[in-house]
Amino acid sequence: MDTLNCPHCGAELPLSFRFAKLVVCPHCGSTIFLEDDAARLAGDQSALTELPSLVRLKVAFRYRNAAYLPVGHIRYRYAFGYWDEWWLLDDGGQGVWLSVDEGDYAFEHPLRLDAPPDFHALKINDELELDGREWRVTELDKARCEGFEGELPEIIRVGETFRYAHLSGIDGELMTLEYVGNGVQAYAGKWVDPFDVRIEA
Ligand SMILES: [Zn+2]
Repeated sequence: MDTLNCPHCGAELPLSFRFAKLVVCPHCGSTIFLEDDAARLAGDQSALTELPSLVRLKVAFRYRNAAYLPVGHIRYRYAFGYWDEWWLLDDGGQGVWLSVDEGDYAFEHPLRLDAPPDFHALKINDELELDGREWRVTELDKARCEGFEGELPEIIRVGETFRYAHLSGIDGELMTLEYVGNGVQAYAGKWVDPFDVRIEA
């Protein structure tokens, strides 16, 4: 991949993800949108307060038999605190999200849903069928993007808000529905046992 330089300070952007759409310059903190191999300054800066975390940017870890490299990080605030989303690359260079809410870890992949339910039609403990499986609604809330760092596969802005629903499946599966603007993005995932996470020295 060709190298790109920060349009603000000129530092080389250490891109490890070919499909990154956003990168935060590690030198000056500028947010840069990547479009058609061009780097465009988004005009805002993102700074995240360092909080104790098992997962850290650019520090590889193993989970069971697979290795992951965290290349991007978004922090969201919601009614009861905050949670972190880490954008990981696996051995094959494929991306996956790791959601970390206090001690709860989950891998999540984007999922196409033909007929996602309307947010306002959902109630806590509702049972519904989605993607051919049974789910129960466990959480309905609103989130706000507090900040981000590293490389991300999507464009996001600090202060952006959206509603979301968390659903639980039968075998420890989970689903997240994010209602952004008029669209719905679904993610399906599995809980991760944090005791099986091994940080690589
Ligand atoms: Zn810069």
